[in-house]
Amino acid sequence: MSKLSIVVPCYNEEESIPLFYPAVEKVVRQMNDLQIEYWFVNDGSSDNSLAEMRKLHEQNPERVHYVSFSRNFGKEAGLYAGLQAATGDYVVVMDVDLQDPPEFLPQMYELLQTGEYDCIGTRRVDRTGEAKFKSFLSDQFYHVINRISQTNIVPGARDYRMMTRQMVDAVLSLKEYNRFSKGIFSWVGFKTKYLDYHNVERVAGETDWSTWKLFKYAMDGITDFSQAPLSIAVWLGTTSFILSIIGLLFVIIRRIVEPSSSVFGWASLICIILLFGGLQLLCIGILGKYIGRIYMQVKQRPIYIIKEKK
Ligand code: UDP
Ligand code: MG
Repeated sequence: MSKLSIVVPCYNEEESIPLFYPAVEKVVRQMNDLQIEYWFVNDGSSDNSLAEMRKLHEQNPERVHYVSFSRNFGKEAGLYAGLQAATGDYVVVMDVDLQDPPEFLPQMYELLQTGEYDCIGTRRVDRTGEAKFKSFLSDQFYHVINRISQTNIVPGARDYRMMTRQMVDAVLSLKEYNRFSKGIFSWVGFKTKYLDYHNVERVAGETDWSTWKLFKYAMDGITDFSQAPLSIAVWLGTTSFILSIIGLLFVIIRRIVEPSSSVFGWASLICIILLFGGLQLLCIGILGKYIGRIYMQVKQRPIYIIKEKK
């Protein structure tokens, strides 16, 4: 009998967990030919999420397991820990807030059974209930990253996906410290089929993702999966070098042709000094972003720390 692992990262989800479990059970109970295991990951919640997980584990010690972190390490770390703990032949990653409809599970499993795909993903075709500005920024993000990165990221794709063991092992083989899952899932390759669905609002609690946090996430994604910002620095440098040569020639020739001509005013000079000062800082900043990531990587810190595992 095949085994399906359900990996669920949770951060302050005491209200969602008791709703999530029965909702998923209702669906997977009908998938008779499957053995199921749950891996809840408590990502350093400050509410009673861990107690909810313990309760579920005590009621179903064979079926429900959990990993509890020593603090909040972020959703990406939670996903990684869940994937590492999962032992199934198939693994599905789900949010606990029921924004990832469990009704898809049988269809995902069936599609994987055909052997034609290695992964069945999901993507939202709309963003009902989400702020317009946020949706706009998301669209721009997909546009930019797909232009400048070799790794193709499907717009609106969720982390909600069912993968074969082979693909899970490939994802786990990427040991990078900064884990941008959307990119990693795509980078490892394999054949993915996307199921479309309409956005569902959270069942309880609130999203932790402010616009600013999403923006930072997008920037991290770009630095993790593209070196284009470094090329921008090179292009800025080259262009300003060429422009300055042209300017220099212009000044020299003008001096020879028209010796009595006056020099340009100091205002333009200040502007140009400020402009290049700014460009230099920008380029140093871009370099810094990459160096910071190299620094985190070479320190080889663990991606998460487990306090309790059952
Ligand atoms: N999550 C987590 N650690 C965090 C933030 C979120 O494990 O630091 C979990 C959260 O409990 C949920 C999933 O990641 O199961 C998605 O979070 P959320 O619903 O806030 O994001 P959204 O659906 O708005 O993208
Ligand atoms: Mg959510």
